[in-house]
Amino acid sequence: MDYLCKATAEDVRVYAAITTGVVGEAARRHRCGALATAALGRVMTGALLLAANLKNRECLTVKFHGNGPLGKIVADASADGSTRGYVVHPEVELPLTNGKLSVGQGVGRGFLSVTRFTGLKDPVTGTCEIFSGEIAEDLTRYLFQSEQTPSVVGLGVLVGIDGSTEAAGGFIVQPLPGASEETLERLEQTVATLRPVSMMVKDGLSAQEIVAEVLRGFTAIHVLSETELSFRCQCSKNRTREILSTLRDEDLKQLEEDGNAEVCCDFCGEKYHFTKEELVEIRRMMLENRKVK
Ligand code: ZN
Repeated sequence: MDYLCKATAEDVRVYAAITTGVVGEAARRHRCGALATAALGRVMTGALLLAANLKNRECLTVKFHGNGPLGKIVADASADGSTRGYVVHPEVELPLTNGKLSVGQGVGRGFLSVTRFTGLKDPVTGTCEIFSGEIAEDLTRYLFQSEQTPSVVGLGVLVGIDGSTEAAGGFIVQPLPGASEETLERLEQTVATLRPVSMMVKDGLSAQEIVAEVLRGFTAIHVLSETELSFRCQCSKNRTREILSTLRDEDLKQLEEDGNAEVCCDFCGEKYHFTKEELVEIRRMMLENRKVK
């Protein structure tokens, strides 16, 4: 089962997540190749870790607008542990680089953005340039440059030879306000010696055990909470119907004449089918509504 563990120790906080299930589901839904699974999985895991700081019902969107062959990668995540995401070209594969999936090359250069939806105010978006396209490094830089939060982010997805998601997870460490220089140095030294997080997950470590690895040498580790994670999309046939009713009249008329329509959700790949009768009804309601306005 996927979940996220929040913990503190001395003057740092760590969030660690196991995301093998949600990444596997995203990869299946979007028919991702190995490269896209790794890239999308890292972005979704990163989004979940960033969202862990939000309050209930708040959510955020992480977007990588790179010029690489994978195209744009988008992930939504909320504080309750749900996430969804997609990559524009899930089928793209590239030769390995030093035996590893070439995620950085697949993503390319450009910029990344993080938008927080708090529900109270207008959404807030921060952006920064993509540095390597390897995702974890980019999010670390983003947090420092755009949000002035020094952090270390580790993300990893292990894809099997058969293309299945064998292990996925990540962590984020941040010094609490007022943390000492000495703490930061110790943290950097520990993180530098960590093995890849995907290997930790593959070896069966729990999120709590990953926290313990990241905080090796720190005392008084205090687990604050554990949140179950899931792939969840907000789309539904009703919402799709609403979107269809915002089309121009001539487009709806065309769909009506075609006799049916299939609308696919970008985020989860779910397909919604509309019969001629349903399309006639949507157009009738739409025309009526516009008359009233
Ligand atoms: Zn959907």
